[in-house]
Amino acid sequence: MDISYIINELGEERGSYFNAVAPPIIQSSNFTFNTVDDFRNALGDEFEANLYSRGNNPTLNILRQKLAALDGAEDALVFSSGIAAITVPVLALLKQGDHIISVDNPYSWTVKLFKNFLAKFGIETTFVDGTKTENFEFALRPNTRLIYLESPNTFSYDLQDLQAVAVLAKQHGIITMIDNSYCTPLFQQPAKLGIDLVAQSATKYIGGHSDVVAGILTGSKALIKKIFDHEFMNTGASLSPHSAWLLIRGLRTLPLRLQRSFESTGKVIAWLKQQPQVDKVLWPFDGDFKQADLARQQMTGCGGLFSFTLKDSTLPKIEAFCNNLKHILMAVSWGGHESLVIPAIAGIAKTDYDIGNFRHQLIRVYVGLEEPEYLINDLKRSLNLSF
Ligand SMILES: *Cc1c(COP(=O)(O)O)cnc(C)c1O
Repeated sequence: MDISYIINELGEERGSYFNAVAPPIIQSSNFTFNTVDDFRNALGDEFEANLYSRGNNPTLNILRQKLAALDGAEDALVFSSGIAAITVPVLALLKQGDHIISVDNPYSWTVKLFKNFLAKFGIETTFVDGTKTENFEFALRPNTRLIYLESPNTFSYDLQDLQAVAVLAKQHGIITMIDNSYCTPLFQQPAKLGIDLVAQSATKYIGGHSDVVAGILTGSKALIKKIFDHEFMNTGASLSPHSAWLLIRGLRTLPLRLQRSFESTGKVIAWLKQQPQVDKVLWPFDGDFKQADLARQQMTGCGGLFSFTLKDSTLPKIEAFCNNLKHILMAVSWGGHESLVIPAIAGIAKTDYDIGNFRHQLIRVYVGLEEPEYLINDLKRSLNLSF
């Protein structure tokens, strides 16, 4: 299916709402029935009916059709946050005594889900360095039910060979799931490489304007229905129709925004690598990146998040550099119009800073939609003021 068709037309029945170009926000909690028979059918299978907006809602259904098609999947669910789109399917697929193999250092709340939340229910997780596929194989147990991936990682950019991991998992009847927030389906299509479930934080690139928190999950109709029928309905982590409408609006410009972020990031990095104060730059499409070949094999483009280190990585220097930035804002999240910075040291106590720990030295930058020269000037100004 054409991306332009998916984004601009799929799922939109304009004839039923005055030929309006923008879809209506069906801000209704419930839906009426004319006969007991119709009502009974809807209650019997809420997955297929507009009954109550914790389950289905027409505005959300437009969005779900587009998201499934973009991922090349049969169906999609949308959630009130990215972490709900990760937590709910994991709760649906696993039971007490099951085992998960997760890639090392996924998104922070995913780590907490595996280490703290699931541990309470007797579900164990082994974390492995996912840059080598055999590490997943070594960690296999008879009770392994899920292999969880995040490629690229959003701080270290480590990749997993998605096709190889999918083949391994299928041999052992294990479900695979990935957090694809970094690439979006425009730059990476894990389902085509054999991954079963694809999650995204729609708060990032899909929303794209830093004004909505949302999550996406796509997969086979059978898996999506299984998740919908129980854990999705029970956790109630559904998205409001207004937020769904913002995501549909975000999708309209996603290809433009992603391409701009990708190209500007290349320019910013090319400049940064020439600066004497800068040590290493991590970005999957950088020629020096250790997994650059795999990146170009399974991704068609690269997101605007990258990390770098300073040659002088003492705490005061990292802090000065971040404090002196004027236009690149200091904040969590990414994927919006605005460029952002977050140093790893913001997430640890000052006394815990270990200058020998590469992960502690990292400064993560998100390149948004501003002119790249504007961002380069901000970086230049801050480097000059800080050193
Ligand atoms: C932000 C983020 C999430 C969590 O999404 P929320 O919408 O904040 O719940 C998950 N994974 C990655 C990679 C993220 O950046």
